[in-house]
Amino acid sequence: MPASTLTVDLNALTGNWRALDAKSGTAVETAAVVKADAYGLGTAGVCQALARAGVHSFFTALTQEAATVRKVVGQGADVYSFSGYSAVTAPDLKANNLIPVLSAPEHVRDFFSTTTDTPFAVQLDTGMNRMGLEPHEFAALKDQITERKPKLILSHLACADEPAHPQNQQQLNCFRELTDGLNIRRSFAATGGTLLGPEYHFDLVRTGIGMYGGHPFEQARPVATVAIPVLQIRDVAPGESVGYSATWTADRPTRLATIAAGYADGLIRAMGSGGVNLWAGETPCPIVGRISMDLITVDITDLGRNPSSLEILNDRQTVDDLAQAAGTIGYEILTSLGGRYKRVYKDS
Ligand SMILES: *Cc1c(COP(=O)(O)O)cnc(C)c1O
Repeated sequence: MPASTLTVDLNALTGNWRALDAKSGTAVETAAVVKADAYGLGTAGVCQALARAGVHSFFTALTQEAATVRKVVGQGADVYSFSGYSAVTAPDLKANNLIPVLSAPEHVRDFFSTTTDTPFAVQLDTGMNRMGLEPHEFAALKDQITERKPKLILSHLACADEPAHPQNQQQLNCFRELTDGLNIRRSFAATGGTLLGPEYHFDLVRTGIGMYGGHPFEQARPVATVAIPVLQIRDVAPGESVGYSATWTADRPTRLATIAAGYADGLIRAMGSGGVNLWAGETPCPIVGRISMDLITVDITDLGRNPSSLEILNDRQTVDDLAQAAGTIGYEILTSLGGRYKRVYKDS
């Protein structure tokens, strides 16, 4: 039986990066956020394509992810790790020439006490209260930090995908107050902030979800397609039920396809009742019954043929459509897909 396939359209990916790069203007660098295995699409394939397209700076969540990115992109690029600096991560950071994003006073103290000339970045908390030096912590360390010339000073917006949210302007004001006049390169925006406008761009924007085809970058081209092989076809009579808890009952002679993926493949169980279809080319076929761990049942009666595979994620039904059906966000759909798919990278 062929494997379920996750196809990554590298042209769409790099096209989305270019489109975001065009939005941020020529003086602003557009970096790529590739944490969580490049949002589930595969670090190696994604980073190779982005590096070839001209991405110079890559951001990851974990030191280990950053080390993998370094191996893929070689020594020419800047590779950052958001998880900061500690005695535990120091050897891997050094061995792989990675740039830690110092985000707490301990990171700063430990880093400054052990190294003198390796590059680093500093994250400030401007209101999200998750990572970064608080304004008073930054004030206490500011002279030491600026003297050591960080490569980048950054902060992160909590509400950037809601353009009218007042916290955007509040965080912007705070970031400016903390960093104006320092003469250090600054970064404030992820995808949402990049779309908020030039005052949010500073010197470098850190785009993630928009490159991968997700909200809030509505003009993005879809990047991921998931095709799942059909394991069995069966006919059921009116009155017969399907799946766990018998939640669906046929009201007409029905042809069902059972396909070889389920919630263990990131096809979140809750999306089963959200109007999600499986696609045979142009034709939508509804999910019936509950999504199981490794199986989904699909009504193919109106298709009029027996397909060998069906698509759940494609240009017609995007990560945001699946997210809406599951009551979540596109980020979670992508990063939930997991390791069972055969990943295929296509270049056209
Ligand atoms: C994940 C992340 C990004 C990228 O965000 P997107 O919304 O995917 O563009 C940027 N900066 C930080 C600090 C992040 O954690």
